[in-house]
Amino acid sequence: MNDDYYELLGVSRDASTDEIKKAYRKLARTLHPDVNPDPEAQEKYKRVSQAYETLSNAEKRRLYDLGGGPGSPMGGGFGGAGFDFADIFDMFAGASGMRGRAQGPVPRQRRGGDILRRTEISLKDVVFGTERELSFRTAALCSVCNGSCCAPGTSPTTCTVCHGTGHVQRVAQSLLGQMVTMAACSACQGHGDIISSPCTECSGHGRVQKEQTVTVRIPSGVEDGTRIQLRGQGEVGEAGGPSGDLYVELSVAHDDLYERAGDDLLTRVRIPMTSAALGTSVPLTTFDGEQDLEIKAGSQPGDVLTLKGLGVTALRSERRGDIKVELDVVVPKNLSGEEKELLRAFAAKRGEEAPRHQGRKGDGGVFGRLRDAFRER
Ligand SMILES: [Zn+2]
Ligand SMILES: [Zn+2]
Repeated sequence: MNDDYYELLGVSRDASTDEIKKAYRKLARTLHPDVNPDPEAQEKYKRVSQAYETLSNAEKRRLYDLGGGPGSPMGGGFGGAGFDFADIFDMFAGASGMRGRAQGPVPRQRRGGDILRRTEISLKDVVFGTERELSFRTAALCSVCNGSCCAPGTSPTTCTVCHGTGHVQRVAQSLLGQMVTMAACSACQGHGDIISSPCTECSGHGRVQKEQTVTVRIPSGVEDGTRIQLRGQGEVGEAGGPSGDLYVELSVAHDDLYERAGDDLLTRVRIPMTSAALGTSVPLTTFDGEQDLEIKAGSQPGDVLTLKGLGVTALRSERRGDIKVELDVVVPKNLSGEEKELLRAFAAKRGEEAPRHQGRKGDGGVFGRLRDAFRER
């Protein structure tokens, strides 16, 4: 028997592997022995399967196209090397809604749910890291039955309907012939056993609602919105199943003095014009206590001073960022007559009575920064 495999599957000679698989799946739905007991159909199913086996394998297909039929050494018979039975039965099960393999009973144990809790931390907590105690109600293991769901001294009994398998067979006649389907046993909900005396403390669920307190270590350098995962600290599963996870979502509170930029902290200091000209020292409030900020004589508005190593401790690191202080120089307003006199005398001394237009000179200033930012794009 020398079938044309392409004809058998009803695909063109340049069909893709996907098209071949689809065509085979379609045929298998009507020819599979579980669906169609007709001997002629079973014979055809064997041939179709052989065609699929050959054409779905790139190397076998190449040899077949070169003229090596099913009888060639590389052709192989039904069930030859490399033939993926599981693949076919999987797709067959999916196609007809039947279960190709018998399923064991469904375990009562189920993984517990995950929990999400939010907590607010300060910028100082971000700089150094911190710990939080979180309390919340959650499902905890029942201490009376320890998750077995049974009243003390009792245990589950094997289901007499399904004999512990968790499923029952149903045979039905259909257009395609006799269909055997597996259904979950309704007497035991597919568990295979029955708890006749459930634990009264947990109503047979193996877990109870309890107030739980968890200590969460929050590392330094976290971001607003960071979620910390604590494995196994979520809800305990039903019937003693594995616990879910606890997620703690952090929100970083607004800080009045500092803004974060990566691991650096940005702040601004306002100094009078005279201090900028003469130089001064300003006590700066930092997360490491008060620090002296030395301002050199002749400092300009917008100058940035750096305090090394007083910024955020990087995530999972010892290294710390810096504090960057932008100088804001305040020009005095509402001068008294005497103050005006002093400043006029000062201006005269410096020859500064008549400033001129000096645009485009120098690269500093707000315009320069704006332009640089524009260029960086
Ligand atoms: Zn219990
Ligand atoms: Zn049962």
